[in-house]
Amino acid sequence: MSAGCTTLDAMTRTIALLGHPVAHSISPAFQQAALDALGVDARYEAWDTPPEDVPAAIERLRDDAVLGANVTVPHKLEALRLADSADAVARRIGAANTLIRRDRSLHATNTDVAGVQRALADAAVDLEGVEAVLIGAGGAARAVVAALRNGGVRSLTVANRTPDRAEALHEVAEEGETPPLELRVCPLDVAPGPLRAALERAALVIHSTPLGMRHGPDEAATPLPADCFSPGQAAFDLVYTPERTPFLLAAGAAGARPIGGLGMLVHQGAESFRLWTGLEPPLEVMFEAARAALEPAS
Ligand code: NAP
Repeated sequence: MSAGCTTLDAMTRTIALLGHPVAHSISPAFQQAALDALGVDARYEAWDTPPEDVPAAIERLRDDAVLGANVTVPHKLEALRLADSADAVARRIGAANTLIRRDRSLHATNTDVAGVQRALADAAVDLEGVEAVLIGAGGAARAVVAALRNGGVRSLTVANRTPDRAEALHEVAEEGETPPLELRVCPLDVAPGPLRAALERAALVIHSTPLGMRHGPDEAATPLPADCFSPGQAAFDLVYTPERTPFLLAAGAAGARPIGGLGMLVHQGAESFRLWTGLEPPLEVMFEAARAALEPAS
């Protein structure tokens, strides 16, 4: 159904965002701007959903008026489990950030992988054959590993506070159709050692923890100080608020090239938009609305 909402009937459609909490999300702002810009009669609504209410919320998504949903922390695993079908990307990541309704069925996918790839492509980061370092090993890191592998990254060193979680990324790095990515795990320790050595070789350094995030656990923190970066290196922070995170400021101070997380956020949303509506997402409108929705002084 292409938007389903052209002139077939007068029903206003719904697209939901399931998460907990969702009050700080800027997805409603840029998704609604995109729907309005293309004249799609639909509302993008944030549904703050505590974990015990997720099954009921998923049932609501089966209604004829619903086009689909985005799913965010902490429900991405549960959404995959409760969906009726899932594509290979969502299964490989082990999490769904997008649900698409087809009749009474919900199909799960994960557009974070495309979000990472397009954000890095926009920033002209060439992934083919390079070495990279990833700090963090949570849900978003799984999408990063899949994206780096799709892009042809040769070798990836992962440092995480909990090493076992980083080890679990081997399954994303080594299974699938594209050539496997050589993945090494090392302690999250910036003293001279394996992480420092990997950082010296890396063309790309990626941060995937909430450190430095506004309203996060430690707004002033960066896992890597400036002397961990080198001139010309690309430094990509998944955190998108503030715009200049402590990680990006440290990278910039060393002459590295800072890339913020807003591009990933908008591109993953744009890919979801395409799947729900069948329409080409208006990227410029989405970026403009996303920037406007970020808190002042970010
Ligand atoms: P997650 O699944 O909860 O994983 C969090 C990760 O951060 C884990 O590796 C965790 O380490 C680490 N961590 C948490 N607190 C830490 C601390 N105080 N010190 C060191 N490491 C710490 O979260 P996620 O979904 O992967 O998201 C990670 C970040 O990416 C968040 O800031 C999120 O906002 C951002 N994100 C951005 C986008 C985008 O579109 N730009 C999309 C998704 C996520 P342990 O394993 O040791 O707990």
